[in-house]
Amino acid sequence: MLIDATAALAEYMVLHGNMLDPRLVQKFLAEIVSDNVIVYDSHLDLTVIFDPSSNLPYIVRTLEDHPIYGASTFDIYLTNYKAVEGLQFPHQIQSIYNSSSQNLDAVLEDYAIEQITLNPKFPPKFVDGIPEEESMSPKAAPKKVHGLSHARITEFSSNMLWAGMKNTTSKDLKVEQPIPGLPSVHWLIVDDDTLGVKQMILEFETEVIVCDAAPQYSSNVIQWIAENLNKPITHLWPTHHHRDHSGGAKEYVEAGAKLIVPEMAVKYWSSIPNATLVTFNDTHPYVHSDENIQAWFMWEQQASHAADWSYSFVTTKCPSHDSPVAVLEADVWQAGMPAEQSDQALMRQWLDQVVGDGLTEKAM
Ligand SMILES: [Zn+2]
Repeated sequence: MLIDATAALAEYMVLHGNMLDPRLVQKFLAEIVSDNVIVYDSHLDLTVIFDPSSNLPYIVRTLEDHPIYGASTFDIYLTNYKAVEGLQFPHQIQSIYNSSSQNLDAVLEDYAIEQITLNPKFPPKFVDGIPEEESMSPKAAPKKVHGLSHARITEFSSNMLWAGMKNTTSKDLKVEQPIPGLPSVHWLIVDDDTLGVKQMILEFETEVIVCDAAPQYSSNVIQWIAENLNKPITHLWPTHHHRDHSGGAKEYVEAGAKLIVPEMAVKYWSSIPNATLVTFNDTHPYVHSDENIQAWFMWEQQASHAADWSYSFVTTKCPSHDSPVAVLEADVWQAGMPAEQSDQALMRQWLDQVVGDGLTEKAM
C-alpha cells in the first residue's frame, strides 16, 4: 500500500515556495513580533529574522526533524541585496542546517543570482502544468503526513526521485543469493519498484552485517534477519550519508549494531546516540572475516557520488584466482536501471578505484 507521500511532497514544496516568495512577509498574519527583528507565523509555520541594520529579511527559518541530527533548524539565508527597479532583492542565497544539540552548521546550498527580472511576460498557460491525464502522479492536496519529516522529503526531492513510500512487512521481501560460491551474500529486494530499494546482507558464521539502512524499511529488514538467519546484526555499513541510505541507522544502533564508516565521516555518525563506530580510511580498509568469507570496506579521497561514499567486496576466506568476488556499491551503478542511464563519469571514476584496488574483471 502506498503511503500518502504525494500529499507530503506537495506540502513540502508549498512550504519552500513560500520560503522563497518575495511577498512572504506580506502573507504573514504576524502574530508574534519580537523587537521587530523576528516574526513568526503559525499558519505558515515560518519565522523571518530581519537584519537590524538594514531592516531587510535575513533568514527564513523552518524546523525539521533530521534522522541523524535530530531537531534542526533549516534556514534560507538572504544576503547581497541589490536594487532592481528600486526594489531590494537578495542576490546570494544559502540553505543551512543548524542543530544546537549537535553543534552543527552545514551549508547545503549556496548560489548567486545574476539577474532578476520584475514582472516578466509569460506565454499563456505557462504555469498551468501538464494536462491532468498526462501526469503519472497520484493527485493529492498538500498535507503534512505523520512520520514523514521534511528532512526526509528534502533528500528524496533533491534527488529528483520519488517512488513514494510503501507499507510493507518482512514477508514482502524477496531474497536471492546471486553470487555462485558465496551463498552468504544475500540480495534483499525490499521494494521492487524501478526506483525501489535493494540491499545486501552479509551472513557470517555467528553474525550479520547489513549494508545500508533505508529508513522506512529498516524494521522489516531487522525482522527478516531475526526470522530467517537468527543471528545478531553486529554491524551496519551505510554506503554513504544520503538519507535514503542512512535514515534507518538509528534503528540498527538501537538493535546493537556498530557502524562501519570511513574516518572522514566520524563526526556525522557520532550524532547518533550511543553509536559505536568501526572506521577505515584510504590506506587502511576495514576487513571483517570468519572461517569462510571476508568482506573489505574501501574508501578513497574524492570518492564517487558523495565525499563519504564507500564500497565493499566480499571473497572467500582464502581466495584463489578464480574464486568468486562480490562487489557491493550503491548509487554509482543504479540497481534496476540500465547502465546507460547511470552517470557515466561516476561509473568510470569508481571503476578506476576498483582497478587500483586490484579487483579482478570477474568480480560481480
Ligand atoms: Zn546517494
